[in-house]
Amino acid sequence: MRILITGASGQLGIELSEVLKGDLIKVYNTKEVQGGYKLDLTNYSAVEDFIIKKKPDVIINTASLTDVDKCGIERGLAFKVNAEAVKHIVRASRVVEAYLIHISTDYVFDGEKGLYKEDDLPNPINYYGLSKLLGETYALSYDDTLVLRTSGVFRHKGFPIYVYKTLKEGKEVSAFKGYYSPISARKLAEAISELIDYRKTGILNVAGERISRVDLAMKIKEKFNLGGSVKEVDDVKGWVAKRPFDSSLDISKAKKILSVDFYSLDENLRYM
Ligand code: NDP
Repeated sequence: MRILITGASGQLGIELSEVLKGDLIKVYNTKEVQGGYKLDLTNYSAVEDFIIKKKPDVIINTASLTDVDKCGIERGLAFKVNAEAVKHIVRASRVVEAYLIHISTDYVFDGEKGLYKEDDLPNPINYYGLSKLLGETYALSYDDTLVLRTSGVFRHKGFPIYVYKTLKEGKEVSAFKGYYSPISARKLAEAISELIDYRKTGILNVAGERISRVDLAMKIKEKFNLGGSVKEVDDVKGWVAKRPFDSSLDISKAKKILSVDFYSLDENLRYM
């Protein structure tokens, strides 16, 4: 099976490259990956040409502008990468009849309710969420697509990594008030590996168990026996875009489909 991974230099892409079996076609933009191909997704004709030439059986689109604040400032770029590029990936997927797994986010929701199900109504409150929602819409215009919504992906970046590093230095962690469903890039990659075999379409939430950031920080402090302290805050210094209060995802559907434990906190914290 030929599997094309966009965002192969990102957190999820790196783990997918480790976990997936088969003929992997790894695509990056600015951070070179060994044996990979440089392809800027905003170069739409190059994207279509590349896919049509490589004829993958499966495309996993993990590439995204994930910096929430940058998306609010550089809206044109966020729109191109997170939305418009997906349209072109879909066009080429149709031609080569590839199965498309498109990665999306809990930030398509406003965070007023939490534990969002796949069919809950999105209502993004920042431009990252809006651009990702547009990307989902393009992706779902193709029958052979799975839109996989996830939350708080961590590997070498993400809140748990910040917590670990900060506490290790004996400093104070600022935990933004609210809830989400963090998952390690490794567990997400393992779940995706299993999902490829099932060829599910539509929308599916694959994320960790719901937790508040302050509880998560305390768990990490205990688990790794770290110093420092944890403070819950309403505002995080440097954040410009609004964040949803409770963007946690209901993962009951994925739990029924998958055999891998992608959700439990202990399992996810093994991959810090
Ligand atoms: P990263 O930020 O780690 O990686 C983003 C990837 O996108 C990089 O490989 C980057 O390439 C690539 N990329 C960015 N712009 C372009 C472009 N113009 N052309 C080609 N590639 C580009 O993301 P994650 O692995 O953390 O996230 C994976 C997916 O999960 C994303 O779709 C994201 O929206 C979603 N998600 C992530 C969450 C999180 O907390 N991180 C939470 C919820 C959903 P390069 O580095 O080579 O420039």
